Amino acid sequence: MKSEFDGYAGEILEVDLTEGKVKRIPLEREITSKYIGGKGFAARILYDRLPQECDPFDPDNIMVFAAGPLTGTLVPGSGRSIVSTKSPATGFWLDANCGGSFGPEMKMAGFDAIIIKGKAPSPVMLLVDDEKVQIRDASDLWRKDTFSTHKWIKDKFGEEFRVACIGEAGEKRVRFASIISEARAFGRGGAGAVMGSKNLKAIAIRGHRPITIAHPEYFMKVCREAFNEMAIHPDSGGGRQKYGTNTILSCMNEAGVHPVRNFQKGSFPGHTILNEEEIREFYVRNKACYGCPIYCSKISEVKEGKYKGAFVEGPEYEDVWSFGAHCENADIPSIIQAEYLCDLYGLDAISTGNVIGFLMECMEKEVLEESDIGFPLRFGDHEGIIRAIHLIGRREASGLLWGEGVKRIANEVGKGSESFAIHVKGLEMPAYDPRGSTGIALAYATSDRGACHLRSWPIGAELLSPEERIDPFSIEFKAEFVKSQQDLFTVINSSVTCLFAIFSLSLRHIVQFLHSVTGIESFASSEEVLRSGERINNLVRLFNLREGLTKGDDNLPKRFFSEPLKDGPTRGRVVDLETMLEEYYFVRGWDEEGVPKPETLKKLGLP
Ligand code: SF4
Repeated sequence: MKSEFDGYAGEILEVDLTEGKVKRIPLEREITSKYIGGKGFAARILYDRLPQECDPFDPDNIMVFAAGPLTGTLVPGSGRSIVSTKSPATGFWLDANCGGSFGPEMKMAGFDAIIIKGKAPSPVMLLVDDEKVQIRDASDLWRKDTFSTHKWIKDKFGEEFRVACIGEAGEKRVRFASIISEARAFGRGGAGAVMGSKNLKAIAIRGHRPITIAHPEYFMKVCREAFNEMAIHPDSGGGRQKYGTNTILSCMNEAGVHPVRNFQKGSFPGHTILNEEEIREFYVRNKACYGCPIYCSKISEVKEGKYKGAFVEGPEYEDVWSFGAHCENADIPSIIQAEYLCDLYGLDAISTGNVIGFLMECMEKEVLEESDIGFPLRFGDHEGIIRAIHLIGRREASGLLWGEGVKRIANEVGKGSESFAIHVKGLEMPAYDPRGSTGIALAYATSDRGACHLRSWPIGAELLSPEERIDPFSIEFKAEFVKSQQDLFTVINSSVTCLFAIFSLSLRHIVQFLHSVTGIESFASSEEVLRSGERINNLVRLFNLREGLTKGDDNLPKRFFSEPLKDGPTRGRVVDLETMLEEYYFVRGWDEEGVPKPETLKKLGLP
């Protein structure tokens, strides 16, 4: 059956796990033009349907898997999709996105989004085979790791099925459990734990429907231009293809924003043995997500030594950092093993490394003792990192508490550990020190899902851009910059395509893609497209405010205000957030408490 909307599948699938029922909801024209798809659809659905102050593990919490109009097309990086829910890490909004092919398959099966609600009485999986949708018993899969789960499903139903599943960490509600799809992850914020709380082990999808394009000739022309521009762009054509996301490792370290010892320093002395060239020695082949010419994914293998046999899609820059410099560990094979274990258990690697680095500092400061941990977990101890991951993934022994995340561990442990608990709104921080980038400081503080580098990434303009570089230490114009990049990134996460692929392109390309694929007239205007991004961000803000967010949550850990870095290019720096935050609220059209003003909502069509 052909969709009446070009670029869209035309239907949303609603799955009620409590009732064991599925329902198809036709897509409405208004939601496409106002909210684009992906994150935008999820924002509308969660805002309209989620009961206020619902516990993230309550059956009433809702999960939305969503694709966008660009998903599954020829647009570079269009293999992505998002999952959205109320986060068990923050208690606020969560959207996490994943590459691979799950999103395109969902659209080709006929769905722009899948809403999951309720809780199954026993473990189940969702099987979507084109028109046929079944909720099936998955008792045999419970307690299987994510790789075995993929294999079991593909052996039973067919290799072509695309799978998204949880591991033991999700089943046991680790608050930063991820959902793994074909060795890639819906990583941050704990969507895997919400899936576990619903007794939903996996979703497997296969589809064969075409995705129609409104203006095929125009679309092909834009795609050709984009592919040509990407081929000669230094980021996509060169560094990212050669080193993957680790292409920025040396730059970040030299700039003094590569956090070491749980954000106690900004440059890693072990960089001489842990850098992009050394990591590249472990790459055995390149891999790309659906329809992407960049091939930034790397498959790595450890061929000798203690971790011989470790094999992973990665390691990604963030994970190299979280198990590397963050824990003062320069042993590359152990980092590959650590990322492999995170994929196996279904754990977010950024948060997992953060928890371990935090525990190491607790040991260093004698806030915790060896008897609390169960073994001597010190900075630089790669064997300790591996032991800790097993305990978190299985939620065994001290891992029971560690699976709660840094914020809750600090609350439980006390003794001043809250002052070096590095998180925003309960989500652990990625690999950039805010004392060396005022832009990322504001981006972390105002991100809708907690400390996140993918709502806005000023680091690129502050530290990497060969031309038009902006001062990383100045607070001037950072509010405007972060606001406009957040709106742009939300457009990308609603379209849905890959930020890394789009880094080599521009807003003009996205607008041309959206217009040629959907034929929606308002998508021909950059202003209107960005307005959609702004509308979605304001709707998410309203969601978070309804869930209890206050101005005090748009904040950073104490360390960044009171502990200047001691050496390197960021020496002596601390963050001045207050002024930037005031300006940010102003440019957003929010009042001094961070609440959107009525006129802002009216302008955006959000009554
Ligand atoms: S740039 Fe990398 S992560 Fe993004 S779609 Fe391409 S291969 Fe996947």
